[in-house]
Amino acid sequence: MIIYEDKTYTTRVVELIRCDCCGKESKYRWATGGFDIEEVCIKYESGKHYPEGRFTKIIEADICPECFKDIIIPTLEKVGVKFLTRESDF
Ligand SMILES: [Zn+2]
Repeated sequence: MIIYEDKTYTTRVVELIRCDCCGKESKYRWATGGFDIEEVCIKYESGKHYPEGRFTKIIEADICPECFKDIIIPTLEKVGVKFLTRESDF
C-alpha cells in the first residue's frame, strides 16, 4: 500500500511590472495587444557557469519602453553609446 501525503506548494508568478524609472505599472508585461512585443532588458550578469550549475551576480532594472526610448537611450548616447536598430522577421 502506498500512503500519500497531501502537500501544498507555492508558485511565484509575475503579477505586476513597475518601471524602476517612472513608476508606471503594467500587468505582467508592457505590451497590451495579444501578439504585441514590448520588452526592455537592462541587465549585467557576472559569475561562473558550470555544467552542473550557475553562480552569478545580476544587476538589473525593469524599465518601461517609453523610459527606455525617451530617457535611457538619450542619456547613454550622451556618453557615446551607439545603439543598433535591427528588425527580426522569421
Ligand atoms: Zn518608465
